[in-house]
This record gives sequence, structure tokens and C-alpha cells, in this order.
Amino acid sequence: MKTFNLAILSGDGIGPEIMAEAQTILEYLKQTGLVDFQIQEALVGGASIRDSGAPITNATLDMVKTADAILFGAVGDYSFDHLPQSVRPEMAILKLRKELELFANIRPIVIFDELIANSNLKKEVLQNVDFVIVRELTGDIYFGEPRGEKKINGVRHGFNTMTYSEPEIERIANVGFKLAEARRRKVTSVDKANVLETMQLWRDVVSRVSESYKDIELQHMYVDNAAMQLINLPAQFDVLVTGNIFGDILSDQASMITGSIGLLPSASLNEGLFGLYEPIHGSAPDIAGKNTANPLAMMLSMAMMFRHSLDRTDIADLIEQAVKNTLGKKIATPDFCREGWRQISTIDMGGEVRKELSKLC
Ligand code: NAD
Repeated sequence: MKTFNLAILSGDGIGPEIMAEAQTILEYLKQTGLVDFQIQEALVGGASIRDSGAPITNATLDMVKTADAILFGAVGDYSFDHLPQSVRPEMAILKLRKELELFANIRPIVIFDELIANSNLKKEVLQNVDFVIVRELTGDIYFGEPRGEKKINGVRHGFNTMTYSEPEIERIANVGFKLAEARRRKVTSVDKANVLETMQLWRDVVSRVSESYKDIELQHMYVDNAAMQLINLPAQFDVLVTGNIFGDILSDQASMITGSIGLLPSASLNEGLFGLYEPIHGSAPDIAGKNTANPLAMMLSMAMMFRHSLDRTDIADLIEQAVKNTLGKKIATPDFCREGWRQISTIDMGGEVRKELSKLC
């Protein structure tokens, strides 16, 4: 059996709390003999700034490059908000995405039957919701130059640059079409081609790439309409492909379809399927240290890691089934607890998933 080399970067806020629960699941799986791995851990984000002055060190970057996959908690700490962008905790994740060429962010939006009543949307709207958001992760306005702030006639002006090249759009479009081949064969490309030149290029390139996928239906949609349709008729989507900033916003919106941001995992992959796996939420400083954070998105991210980077679909299925069975017991952390359900802590949720896993192993 292969011994996987896993890099664990817990980060800030609730990151270490949810990662601790994911790690107990990992350790349990190792004990059963189903999987073998060794772990290397490092500080990132605010924790790394406190330790070494940098959001991520070169030693950490070198370490993760030797791993088979990365599990990432979250970064962000309001006490660093006064610092320039380039040295804030969030730079750690941006740098990892850029250095490792993690250009494809994959965010499945699936409704657990047990949680239909948790959503703010009506039950009828939620029927058959099962789609994937493919977000480009290493380009767009988050990385475009020039960026910065300057004074014009004594008045502060901030500026950023939205930019994409043809190859960047081609490779993310290909990820979307390939995913659609194994699903319901529909790609919705989301842009703002009506007002932004970068987005007209996006539309042209996606249309061109689609010619190599004749049996996949391609639909173009403006981002404002997509925001509306996600709430109006989310079941219409199969694979939604979009750029960095639109994907950032739409995937948080989509998280509310499922009931809580604490339930959504994600994978960020490079061309070789090497990946960084993290929940879509941030470090949630408002609830950090309270033992109330939902660890399920972290565990589901770990399941995605076994599926996409480690080629162990069997382990991914086990973790996902254990989470599903746990939800079936009507227990929840505060973010998705509702009437008739029992509210439990982060640590207890970890224990319950472990219990369900042990029944399956
Ligand atoms: P957030 O996702 O951290 O929190 C938004 C809301 O959701 C908060 O009310 C929070 O309590 C709640 N929440 C998030 N995750 C939860 C969980 N697992 N269980 C229960 N409730 C949960 O977003 P924010 O407040 O906009 O940002 C906080 C910090 O996180 C900022 O510094 C931001 O830059 C950073 N951030 C980091 C990442 C990342 O590391 N990839 C992503 C997004 C935001």
C-alpha cells in the first residue's frame, strides 16, 4: 500500500479546530489499515506572520511541493487588517495557488436530503440540485497588474486590473467540459461580456473550446443573471465555469442553497491533478476558539482529496457516507441546527462522524 505524504496547513481562526477533527478521521482510517500516510505540518497565515513575519515561508512552500496533496484550513485574522495586502494572512493562500499553479477550483454543490429543510429556499426549488462550480483561481482581477492606490489631485484612487489570456481561459474551460462529460453534459459559462473586454475574450475562447466537445451543451450566462438563476432555478446547472472573482462570489451564494457555508468542500487542482483541499469558508474569527465551528466541510474536503489526487475513491465514499449518516441522526453544529435537532460542538461532531465511520469500516 502506498504511504501518502500529506501536508497539513491549519491556518488561523477556526482552521486548527476543524482540522483537528479531520485529522482524527484520518488517524482512524490509518488505524483500520485502509490507508497509510505520513503528515507534515506548517504554520500559514496570521499564525505564520506571528512566528516568522511572513504569511507563508519558503520552507513551507518547499515542504508542500514534496507532498501528494495539501489539506488547508483557512487563513485570515482581523488583527492584521492594518497591514498592506502583500503581507496579510490571505497572501498565504494566494501564493500557494499561484506557486503551485492551482488554477482549477472545483466546488460541488449537492444537497443532502437530510438538510433540505435547512436551506432558505423552498423544497421544490431544491429538487435535483447537483452541480459543480469550476472557478478559475490564478488569474483575473486578484492577480492582474497594475494594482494599487494613488492620489490624483489629492484624492485617493484604488485600482485593480481584470485580465485573462487565451491559454488561461482555454485550460479552465477544458476542465469544465471534461467534468461535464462524466455528468449531465451541460456547461454554463458565466461572464460579463456585455460590458468587459476581458469577459468578451472569455466568451470567445470558451465557445472555441466547446467545438472540441460536440456532445456537451454550452450555455453562456451573464454573471448578474447567474446570481439570480442560482436562487430561482439552481437545478438547471450541471457544470458552471467562471473566472476568479465571479466564482468567489457565486460559490458563497451557492453555499446558502445547501444551508450552511460550513458544509461545502473544495479542491484546487493543477494540470497534474495535484491539489489543495479546503472548505470554501474563511477563518470565521467571530466564532474561533468557541468549539462551535462546523468541521464537516473540512472532512468533505478531505474526501475530495482521496477522490481527485490520491485515487482512493473507496476512502472518499466512506467519509462522505459517514457524514451523511451523521446528518441522519439530526445532530448539528449551531450554524445549521434547527428545531428538532440536537446542537453539538465541533469536537462532538468529529466524534459522531468517527463513530459512523467505524460502523462502515
Ligand atoms: P468566513 O467564511 O470566515 O465567515 C462568514 C460567516 O460564516 C461567519 O459568520 C462565520 O462564523 C460563518 N462560518 C464560516 N465557516 C463556518 C463554519 N465552518 N462553521 C460555522 N460557521 C462558519 O468569511 P469572512 O467573515 O468574510 O472572513 C473571515 C476571514 O477569513 C477574513 O480574514 C477573510 O479574508 C478570510 N477568508 C479566508 C479564506 C481562505 O482561507 N481560503 C476564504 C474566505 C475568507
